Amino acid sequence: MKFEDYRISEDIKKNIKDLGFKKPTDIQYKAIPPILRGEDVLAIAQTGTGKTAAFAIPIIHLIDQQKSSGSAKGIQALILVPTRELAIQITDAFETIGNNTKVNTTVVYGGVEQDRQINKLKDGADVLVATPGRMFDLINQKYIDLRYLKVLILDEADHMLDLGFIKDIRDIQRHIPRQHQTLFFSATINKSIKKLAYSLVRNPIRIQISPKNPVAKNIEHSVAFIEMDDKRFFLERVINNYPDSKVLAFVRTKIRAERVMKALERVGIKSDTIHGEKEQSDRIEVLNKFKSGKTNVLIATDVSSRGIDIPGVDYVINYDMPEQAENYVHRVGRTGRGSKKGQAVSFCSKDERILLEDIENYLDKPIGILDISKSDYLETLEISNESHTDWKTLIRDNEEMISKKKKKKKKK
Ligand code: ADP
Ligand code: MG
Repeated sequence: MKFEDYRISEDIKKNIKDLGFKKPTDIQYKAIPPILRGEDVLAIAQTGTGKTAAFAIPIIHLIDQQKSSGSAKGIQALILVPTRELAIQITDAFETIGNNTKVNTTVVYGGVEQDRQINKLKDGADVLVATPGRMFDLINQKYIDLRYLKVLILDEADHMLDLGFIKDIRDIQRHIPRQHQTLFFSATINKSIKKLAYSLVRNPIRIQISPKNPVAKNIEHSVAFIEMDDKRFFLERVINNYPDSKVLAFVRTKIRAERVMKALERVGIKSDTIHGEKEQSDRIEVLNKFKSGKTNVLIATDVSSRGIDIPGVDYVINYDMPEQAENYVHRVGRTGRGSKKGQAVSFCSKDERILLEDIENYLDKPIGILDISKSDYLETLEISNESHTDWKTLIRDNEEMISKKKKKKKKK
């Protein structure tokens, strides 16, 4: 089946063509028809398989039609997502697929001034993409009115229904009409969250692509046993071995992100960090630089593990093992997107073996081990520029001291 065969507007078809999409992916093929029919859908499909367009295409089509017949008013669709970057990305996708249609998409998220977002809302939005915190702020201030909502979408649904967000999801029900369509999309879901999702809807259509293997088939992933203190040398080696590659490394905390960046700096490797402690404008800038290839190495916390679509990430490195097993799937899923292939390697120290076990239980299969011989391991430590840097730094510091002394003498 081709996109041309769908009963969707010609404008949308053209936009899809301009994006270079030739035919629908599996999840698009299965999810678009029931969404067009107005059914509730729970859709689980691997990372990078085009879930965004799977809900964007039918939603834009439905709203465009309703607007053409003059029967739509107010915000018609609300997409809730866990992070600001993901909100921006989904908004971009809606704007691209909805180009030249009657559908306007607006985004609200925290960490930036609200005035610009309010002005955009005043212009009238049909689709609202939001992170919950800022959205509730603006609902309370009466800038967002969801009385006419027709469809609620939870992207990264299992996360949105988990502890941190479930209260928001329950609260939002009080602001939207009782009769509405609900769509859940994610790459991962567990039994209890699935149950919770079912409790929010009546008879959802359940679509699950490759349920046995949550890691996308385009990702070659393995684990390497590396001690904590040695990890930086191995990251250095990966980056130096593949100097033109885009490398995304995940760490456990914001502090560790900064530390790894400094360690790389010491050996002459430029990198950026992205985490929750950064100013929002910095987060966006860093991500854009990485997307465009201005920087090739990004050190991230799990704030960037879900949903973010960065073209051409060659390597994902789990510099620290993820503490939540499903985040393994999301982290490695930043590579191998669309038709691209990708590699992921997890650095696992002795203390992290228990996390590895959790992940393997979750995946229901072992992760292939990247065998590092003793001599290779030692060589990695030896060839590091860090030891040389120590010399260079010493010499430079020494030279600086000497020249300062000389200057002082001259002044006298
Ligand atoms: P997911 O949400 O499943 O992780 P995304 O929606 O972010 O995946 O899409 C992953 C990538 O695949 C994006 O870059 C998107 O533009 C691309 N893509 C989506 N649908 C198609 C398609 N039908 N053909 C080719 N590429 C597609
Ligand atoms: Mg997605």
